[in-house]
Amino acid sequence: MKVTEKKHLKVKSIKNGTVIDHITANRALSVLNILNLPDEDTSLTVAMNVESPDMSRKDIVKIENRELSQDEVDKLVLIAPNATINIIRDYEITRKARLELKDEISDVITCSNPNCISNSNEPIKTKFYVQSKKPVILRCHFCERTMDLDDIEEQF
Ligand SMILES: [Zn+2]
Repeated sequence: MKVTEKKHLKVKSIKNGTVIDHITANRALSVLNILNLPDEDTSLTVAMNVESPDMSRKDIVKIENRELSQDEVDKLVLIAPNATINIIRDYEITRKARLELKDEISDVITCSNPNCISNSNEPIKTKFYVQSKKPVILRCHFCERTMDLDDIEEQF
């Protein structure tokens, strides 16, 4: 079987749902945490640390009968900034989106500094600046605390 055919079959293996591809290697479990999976009703396929055609390593998550909310996508981009999301309907890819980390992240995660004003009872939305995209490092607008991927993952 030719490589292109193989790839085709892989993506086509679910009838309806979402395929999240190009997840940072070994981060698939955090992706599942964000999506509150596994659960009793959802069929999942998870591939971890597999070789992609360009020889780098990645994770893939296939979720049947489920599409992602914007809230989930906003969190996902922090853990898997290079991921692509394929929406599958009746075995066909109907929509393909590449995640992109913006320069500012608002109201998605909370600051890891317990004394930060965004963690007080004030009605303040959290806000972070993306200090680095590779690796992901965020800096709090209010207290300047920086958060790396491990800090971010702890919240999911
Ligand atoms: Zn803060």
